[in-house]
Amino acid sequence: MLFDYHMHTPLCGHAAGHPREYATEAIRKGLAEIGFSEHNPMPEKFDDWRMDLADFPKYLQLVQEAREENPKLPIRLGLECDFIPGRESWIRELSRKADFDYLIGAVHYITPDWDVDNPLKLDRWKQQPVEEVWTHYFKAIAQTAQSGLFDFLAHPDLVKKFGHIPKGDLLPYYREALDAIEASKMAIEVSTAGLRKAVGEIYPSVQFLREAFRRKISVLISSDSHAPGEVGHEFRRALDLVKEMGYRELTAFRKREQVKIPIA
Ligand code: ZN
Ligand code: FE
Ligand code: FE
Ligand code: ZN
Repeated sequence: MLFDYHMHTPLCGHAAGHPREYATEAIRKGLAEIGFSEHNPMPEKFDDWRMDLADFPKYLQLVQEAREENPKLPIRLGLECDFIPGRESWIRELSRKADFDYLIGAVHYITPDWDVDNPLKLDRWKQQPVEEVWTHYFKAIAQTAQSGLFDFLAHPDLVKKFGHIPKGDLLPYYREALDAIEASKMAIEVSTAGLRKAVGEIYPSVQFLREAFRRKISVLISSDSHAPGEVGHEFRRALDLVKEMGYRELTAFRKREQVKIPIA
């Protein structure tokens, strides 16, 4: 019943392993399906952690090879797309370049030059109050949802990755983002990647997820694997959390259409 839609390939420059190795690990862990979601290319040189546009055909080829070698495992095609204000038309153009099953919307950048999850930019946190960073981040999440470009949202509260968390109630930061996600009908990822980071928590927080359930926002569980061994990482724990919140189904995708998978 479980599936993992958030996996990278060596084309982004910071992940290891051919997609076939991710597929092998998924089968070993008993996953029902998987999907790849490389960091989206940009038309120009943008940063050093996404696939080059010139490598896009190679990406399709790697996924195709994994499919051919694992005929019993459904392997979906996705892309993890950065929401960058003003670049919406590029995402639309990209979405027509292949037969995608889903596009993941992600916020890493809160300003044109600060990707908040970048470990090389930890100094930036000393230059701005954490409250301000969080406000910018969740505003960007709201815009991501409002764009209507994406099928689901990546790591909803990634901004906490290194443990920078404001004191007090966090709901005021979440609210606008949750409103926009609810209105957009997009799903959100419950990502176990945060368990492997300094914060040591699933993305999103329990409070965020409880609010998401109250608003009937759909969920799926993913690992954000950058290495084959991370496929399906801590999925039991994520599933327990999702069930505890009240969820009875997960949301999968086929050709950008939602498919509801009852939780067994
Ligand atoms: Zn990555
Ligand atoms: Fe990401
Ligand atoms: Fe990712
Ligand atoms: Zn990611």
